[in-house]
Amino acid sequence: MSIIFPSSHCFSCNKNIPVYYNIPLLSYFLLKGKCFFCRSEFPSRYAFVELISGLFTIITYLIFDFSHAFFIYSILTYLLIAVTFVDIDHFIIPNGFIIFGLLVLFFGLFGNFLSINWEESMSGSFVFAGFLFSIGLIGQFILKKESIGFGDVKLGLILGGFLGVEYSVLALYLSFAISALVVIIFLNRSFKKGNNKIPFGPYLAAGTLISLFTIDPQGGNYILNWYYRTMF
Ligand SMILES: [Zn+2]
Repeated sequence: MSIIFPSSHCFSCNKNIPVYYNIPLLSYFLLKGKCFFCRSEFPSRYAFVELISGLFTIITYLIFDFSHAFFIYSILTYLLIAVTFVDIDHFIIPNGFIIFGLLVLFFGLFGNFLSINWEESMSGSFVFAGFLFSIGLIGQFILKKESIGFGDVKLGLILGGFLGVEYSVLALYLSFAISALVVIIFLNRSFKKGNNKIPFGPYLAAGTLISLFTIDPQGGNYILNWYYRTMF
């Protein structure tokens, strides 16, 4: 729960988990996913989150090397993993996440740690959040109920700030494309049953992460470079 004040505990027996039983992935596999004290099982999702956090950190390192940007974008990555799982479970993006993201963004901008300046960052926020807000309004008008939530708009404000305009457009495009694919492939049946609520945070997270992870260390972005080569 915290790396500063070790307070992670078993939800069954409430015993604190000592640091040596709390090593990401390793402890999970050595203890076979069970609490050392009462042997109750921990959700495999914990191990999965640890795994993707590690993988994403490696990818971020390969792109940004050991730089300030590496730290900033790693934190953004962890934030997006948290947003994804909380939004899937509770259909909400907590304001605490938004505020934390804003603080990291401002820190990155003040320290000049991002590859974009304030102006580019604010334009990105405007495009990302503005687009989601407009889609939300149109959805509200057509469907007569909330389509894109305000939590998504607030998240868009932060993501756009990290990405700048060009990457925001790419991330938005990917988010909507992936969500459309998922709806067509997986959710068709549950939609017919009237269960038509899907969280959009995970798609925004996916679109943003793909946009960042396809940055070409030589310059530009693999997807955008390909697009410009093909189209012009
Ligand atoms: Zn226990």
